[in-house]
Amino acid sequence: MSFYEVRKEYAGFDFKGFFAGVTVDRVKRALSKSRLTEWDYLALLSPAAEECLEEMARKAHRLTVQHFGRVILLYTPLYLANYCVNRCVYCGFKANNRLERKKLTPAEVEREAGIIAATGLKHILILTGESRRHSPVSYIRECVKILKKYFTSISIEIYPLEESEYAELIAAGVDGLTIYQEVYDEEVYAELHPAGPKRNYRYRLEAPERACRAGMRTVNVGALLGLHDWRTEAFFTGLHASYLQDTFPDVEVSISPPRMRPQLGGFQPRVKVNDKDLVQYMLAFRLYMPRGGITISTRERAELRDHLVRLGATKMSAGSCTAVGGRSGHESTGQFEISDGRSVAEMARMLYDQGYQPVYKDWQMI
Ligand code: SF4
Repeated sequence: MSFYEVRKEYAGFDFKGFFAGVTVDRVKRALSKSRLTEWDYLALLSPAAEECLEEMARKAHRLTVQHFGRVILLYTPLYLANYCVNRCVYCGFKANNRLERKKLTPAEVEREAGIIAATGLKHILILTGESRRHSPVSYIRECVKILKKYFTSISIEIYPLEESEYAELIAAGVDGLTIYQEVYDEEVYAELHPAGPKRNYRYRLEAPERACRAGMRTVNVGALLGLHDWRTEAFFTGLHASYLQDTFPDVEVSISPPRMRPQLGGFQPRVKVNDKDLVQYMLAFRLYMPRGGITISTRERAELRDHLVRLGATKMSAGSCTAVGGRSGHESTGQFEISDGRSVAEMARMLYDQGYQPVYKDWQMI
């Protein structure tokens, strides 16, 4: 059964009614368990659980240290291209936005890679907009060949691929996939993705499964917070991660809880997700999946990220730039505004100050 079918089993479920019925006692019962069901997870995402955040934080911290130690893996994104054929209403790169479109040449990839590598980072996440014509798999493969000279772990955040295409990129040196469903609610998804191949909800939802079958080492899923009710979106993100972990036990599974940031086009979040909500989501997920990774990007501001280190985060971006060629001086519009502009060295210092170790490399393909 694919996750699409798992997701369908919750169609028509009365989430509002469930949340209204959760009491603090029910939350505490979930908190006392060592292995949580999805209903326990949902209870921890409820408004009633807001009263138990301190207790949740203590347990989440303990579990994170137990399974991951006091370490945070650092990585950075590298935008290879910003061509896109989709019209996601919330994104600065959507096809109908007027901005300079660019794709890095091999020489430019080499230049950007050199700048990033000089910071000490060994993990990189490469992104393209979603355009098979401008950024075909063959182009991504060629970029990976260059990047392999500089980095030991290369993850992709690109359009969803066929299983054989994932296998092709894995053979070239890719070992991680990040793909956000953006919105797990299928109706809202259809509204927010009015044109382009991304309209195919199911094809996107099943992409992580295809990648896992192809042999991907790490997979990261998530919903973009601000597009729909965060509690149910957090629930389905956790359920998705748990499904992937159970189905593909050899794969390292993680989630990201990205919140919307200002972007070209000025789309305003439909739902407010405040810092407390974000923290509740992270804590609930940590208790539900003690060994699941949690990635916190530079969408979040520095002071908040400093706090999230102790609340379950396992991976953080640093020295980020969301514009194509932005590190080597090319002036172009970024996908969205970043919030924490600290360099890799500044992030490392912050982590040491908190008694944590910044990790630049935890993987090497032989
Ligand atoms: S979110 Fe991705 S697919 Fe959608 S418009 Fe932006 S770059 Fe294109």
